[in-house]
Amino acid sequence: MSSRPFRYAIALGGNRRTRWGGPPATLHAAIQILTAAGLKIDRVSPIVATPAMGPAGRGFANAALCITTTLAPVDLLTLLKRTERAFGRRAGRRWGPRPLDLDILLWSEGVWPPGHARSAPGRLQIPHVGLASRRFVLDPLVRIAPDWPLPGTRRTIRQLHARAKG
Ligand code: AMP
Repeated sequence: MSSRPFRYAIALGGNRRTRWGGPPATLHAAIQILTAAGLKIDRVSPIVATPAMGPAGRGFANAALCITTTLAPVDLLTLLKRTERAFGRRAGRRWGPRPLDLDILLWSEGVWPPGHARSAPGRLQIPHVGLASRRFVLDPLVRIAPDWPLPGTRRTIRQLHARAKG
């Protein structure tokens, strides 16, 4: 296993109260738990409030992190899924209420799976498929990683953000 450190951008979101408090307090607690799990948190965006999409009913708190870790993408995803479960996340409706959602947006090595192969449905894919179109992802991300280029394009996060619709 490689010990080379990778950089990642991660999205955090939530729209339910947890034992840590409302969505913003829950995101702060998640950042502490990810730090305790060994991730080096390099940058933390402001937490932004986002109106609910779909039938979830409640507004979300969203944030983004830049981190450094030696974990490969699949191992980082395992850590993020374990953390979601620790916050009470259960599999369910795609747009339903969720205490904590953690997604890998970008990583320093470009695309995953390697070689630009298309990922199987439901399997890990980096950049995250929703990255370029979701304001609730781009709004916090542009605050901490404006110059990060989208792999395979000449566009930066700043440019994607400027083009994303409301
Ligand atoms: P959700 O629970 O809606 O966040 O979806 C999680 C599922 O999406 C996981 O089982 C992952 O395998 C898959 N997935 C695909 N790409 C990503 C990504 N970049 N970050 C997190 N999950 C991803």
